[in-house]
Amino acid sequence: MNAEPFELGVLDAAEHLASGTVTSVELMRALLDRADQVEPSLNSLCWRDRELALVAAREADEARAAGDARPWLGVPLAVKDVLNVAGQPCTAGSAILQGYVAPYDATVVARLKAAGFILFARANTDEFAMGSSTETSVYGPTRNPWDAERTPGGSSGGSAAVVAARLAPAALGTDTSGSIRQPAAFCGVTGFKPTTGRISRFGCVALAPSLDQIGAIARSVEDAAVLYQVMAGVDPRDAMTSSRAVDLDLENLCAASDLRGVRLGWVQSDAGADLDPDVEALVRAAVKACRELGAEVIEVDLPHQRYGMPCYSVLVSAEASASLARYDGVRYGRRVPADDLQEMMAQTRAQGFGREVKRRLILGTHVLSRGGYERYYERACKVRELIRRDYARVFEQCDALVGPVAPTTAWRLGEPAADPPRMVRADTYTVGANLAGLCALSLPCGFTATGLPVGLQVVGPAFEDARILRIGAAYQHATEWHWRQPGLGEES
Ligand code: GLN
Repeated sequence: MNAEPFELGVLDAAEHLASGTVTSVELMRALLDRADQVEPSLNSLCWRDRELALVAAREADEARAAGDARPWLGVPLAVKDVLNVAGQPCTAGSAILQGYVAPYDATVVARLKAAGFILFARANTDEFAMGSSTETSVYGPTRNPWDAERTPGGSSGGSAAVVAARLAPAALGTDTSGSIRQPAAFCGVTGFKPTTGRISRFGCVALAPSLDQIGAIARSVEDAAVLYQVMAGVDPRDAMTSSRAVDLDLENLCAASDLRGVRLGWVQSDAGADLDPDVEALVRAAVKACRELGAEVIEVDLPHQRYGMPCYSVLVSAEASASLARYDGVRYGRRVPADDLQEMMAQTRAQGFGREVKRRLILGTHVLSRGGYERYYERACKVRELIRRDYARVFEQCDALVGPVAPTTAWRLGEPAADPPRMVRADTYTVGANLAGLCALSLPCGFTATGLPVGLQVVGPAFEDARILRIGAAYQHATEWHWRQPGLGEES
């Protein structure tokens, strides 16, 4: 084997496990040893259990020896700390869920386990996935593997850092307005937000159910596609899931070598996001590379794109205030004792939630109040419809959109808190896919002169997940940005 075991992605690990050049125990041990080495400075994982992980790996090796031929048997994965895995803590990075241990598996977790994956570690997140920098977690901030003075993005910043730092072959994240794609871009890894309704959210801590989506953060498009294929499909326990067949041909994806016959749209309208010129130059170079692979690139317009974040801010707060009403000290996690029930609930919420969560709950309660409902919530729903129509019109002209993931590279730690409006604008390019229920991919497409990764976003129509994965795979087969690894203080 040329690579160290901890460097293997999902497909590579599966191949080595099948051929016997590595065992699941060796792989797991290598990942855990590496975590011991780099986690003190990275803080990307908020839970791992060495003994349990090694027991699961040993069981996988024994099953394989006894003839179990499931391709993903014994491949380790990390999950964002918002997904329930039976027997593991699930805290959404919040003090209010301290002490809560999941009594059941989320649907995605059950499916991945059935396919043989081992969910051995939990990745840090902004509290209740509210944030773009993984700084609001009760476990403290995660650092960017490319620059320890910077954030990994968020809210799935732990998951992206884990994959970039080679602490797991891949990780699961969630994306409500960009939380898979933006940290993937900031950490130089691949992130995939599938179409709304493709993947069940049952067992995932809800932020805004009309926008939340689970997806993979991985080294490559193929690895992300593998996890997508295992997770996707209808689930009676998530009413938003679709029964449409999941048509993904992994072999076809691995063979994608050009973009002939593909028409890509480049958005012309000024989104008001203050796009950094260095980022823009790298994204334009990536689009040129797509053209060289045979794609036709046309200019298109999303006139309401600039209203995406104001619209999102209203909707996410409204939905969060409903989703988080259940954390009352009675059913889950932490309880602050008090003389009566009302006081107990009030104290539990006052002490259990962090500042950003409280800010949104207050805002959400206001926008759903009498008067606020018509003025804010209903209007936001109408704007959301305008945005959805913009995309529907644009996808009559092209197969997919290409553009930046985020307007900047990774921020310095502390920077987002000092400039909240900038933080909000940061999701301008990603939020449309959530508001309109589309699929979207974040691909490493280069590095700035200071060595920070930049991401290219590919957005496709609803249920055309296979199409954008194929575009992403063709791009990655012609480029090598996604194979770059951060040094992490050692020679790379
Ligand atoms: N920046 C977004 C927010 O704070 C990220 C949400 C998400 O995608 N989970 O709401």
